[in-house]
Amino acid sequence: MTENESKPTLEFKRSSIHGIGGFATGPIRLGTLVIEYVGQIITKTESLSRCEAGNTSIFELDDERDIDGAVSWNPARFLNHSCAPNCDAELIDGQIWIVARRDISAGEEITFNYGYDREDYREHPCRCGAPGCLGYIVAEEFFPALQEGQGLEFRRV
Ligand SMILES: [Zn+2]
Repeated sequence: MTENESKPTLEFKRSSIHGIGGFATGPIRLGTLVIEYVGQIITKTESLSRCEAGNTSIFELDDERDIDGAVSWNPARFLNHSCAPNCDAELIDGQIWIVARRDISAGEEITFNYGYDREDYREHPCRCGAPGCLGYIVAEEFFPALQEGQGLEFRRV
């Protein structure tokens, strides 16, 4: 980010995708670190038990630690998934950042791919409204199988 660019700010309000979403209050350029995904740093053991309890806000930080974003001080938890997102979640220097994958206009909703595994994917329907929405919240690596009209069950990837 150059000195001339102000830090991107987001406005959180009702989203047509789901619940509350984050919206750009001004233009955001490709590659901008939009917002950090913060949370509680937890061990893999703790992470596993929280995931099994249905927590879907956990990201992997490294081989030993994950981060649980389901905390009040993490506004990025409101960001919605899209099958055609304008941001990516990236691990940068031990932190998770939501990074613009293209130029974003003022007023656009900030979205990224949640990167869910195929396990129980039918329990996570997607209503992002993007052209070509896959119908389920899954990582991009599973898109081809869904686009071919196959389910994700019993498939080796
Ligand atoms: Zn979708």
